[in-house]
Amino acid sequence: MKHFKTKSSIALAGMLSLGLTQQQSSFATEKEKPSRPNFVVIFADDMGYGDMGVYGHPTIHTPNLDEMAHEGQKWTNFYVAAPVSTPSRAGLLTGRLPIRSGMCSDERRVLFPDSEGGLPPDEITIAEALKGNGYRTAAIGKWHLGHQSPYLPTNHGFESYFGIPYSNDMDKVRGTADHFTLAENERYQAYNVPLMRDDEIVERPADQRTITRRYTEEAVEKIKDFKGDPFFVYLAHSMPHIPLFRSEEFKDTSVAGIYGDVIEEIDWSVGRILETLKKEGIAENTLVVFTSDNGPWHIFKTHGGSSGMLRGAKGGTFEGGMREPTIFWWPGVIDSGVVMDMATTMDLLPAFCSLSNTQLPDDRIYDGYDVSPLILGTGKSPRDVVFYYRGEQVYSVRKGDYKAHFITRLEYGSKTAHFMTEGEFRVKDTPTHHDPPLLYNLSEDPAEKYNVAEEHPEVIADIRQILEEHKESIKPVENQLEK
Ligand code: MG
Repeated sequence: MKHFKTKSSIALAGMLSLGLTQQQSSFATEKEKPSRPNFVVIFADDMGYGDMGVYGHPTIHTPNLDEMAHEGQKWTNFYVAAPVSTPSRAGLLTGRLPIRSGMCSDERRVLFPDSEGGLPPDEITIAEALKGNGYRTAAIGKWHLGHQSPYLPTNHGFESYFGIPYSNDMDKVRGTADHFTLAENERYQAYNVPLMRDDEIVERPADQRTITRRYTEEAVEKIKDFKGDPFFVYLAHSMPHIPLFRSEEFKDTSVAGIYGDVIEEIDWSVGRILETLKKEGIAENTLVVFTSDNGPWHIFKTHGGSSGMLRGAKGGTFEGGMREPTIFWWPGVIDSGVVMDMATTMDLLPAFCSLSNTQLPDDRIYDGYDVSPLILGTGKSPRDVVFYYRGEQVYSVRKGDYKAHFITRLEYGSKTAHFMTEGEFRVKDTPTHHDPPLLYNLSEDPAEKYNVAEEHPEVIADIRQILEEHKESIKPVENQLEK
């Protein structure tokens, strides 16, 4: 049995909690890894660390995700590049921090329907890199990296695109009730979001009640169509971002309410995709990664998800904003178990390239590391540092077990009642600077409760130096979110 972290007893304990036996976990290593495996990335929107059964949710029923984790790997220290959508997606697809592509902003944290910018054409996405090595490629679902022509998926290495090009709460129809009331979730017409195929709008407003099902059908069709060639399918669900929608089959079926319905439909979708890979006989040629773009949107109460035991949520730089529930699945090739080493979505591009012998250009800085040895169980993670950006600023840094918060701030969209004046809520959302920084030991204290800054000045000094060196590597580029 492979151990994925130095403290192997912890990994073993994790495996046992998944209900695995040593015999079950060792079936994998007998088969050779294919030279150009398929890659499927399933990216939920605003799903929290605590939102599936295998990550501890007591009432959301996720048998397919749980089974995926049993057969594959449950990663417990996996991060995204940013705590909100657009920069998080830019980080995943380019392997680079969004600050390097101009895809983050202190003024406008994501792209909006009136935005003119997008992911610059000279950025190289996973799709573009793999396409150069003979891969078929498809993007399905939420894009949010620019809906103007030069920035659409079909201009970034994807052969096809089917989805809503930005968030599903945008293009709100004037005069309809505020979605903060939670009152309007059956009325998809209140959100005039377009559904696109390639570069054309095919439905507006998109009937969001069927969107998870239709994305899934598209993914299944692409997998069947591509199966003779190596492929990369990027399936970025629009859900469970508010407003919440689910198909008739999942309506009022979860004991966890409408949010549970939505997650359980995504779980069904995962089951359909894994079942298709098995039926088509290509499961052992396919690495599937499931994760989420950022933490849950807490301000929407029961319509937002849960960070589980983690502190914080979407938009913030406490763990709940950026640590995601993440499963790797590749039957017959990777050992099952719990992976506790650190990794991020930015590590997928270098890892996929390594696993498929795809060359990457050496003319740019990559923030991702090749974590393929960690996936394959042949080595440790090369990553020891995570930078937590809010907009264009680094708010906190993790080095090994320790995380230092230099700046903290409220989560995305937070409002405080005591700032209510003249009948309007005023946002009290100013940064708080910490010197010395708040310091937490995330291995002993994953909930970030106990500040240990006074006991570890040497750790803080080390992290300060890492931060200074990182800042020196950042070169100014045109900001795409403020165009
Ligand atoms: Mg999101």
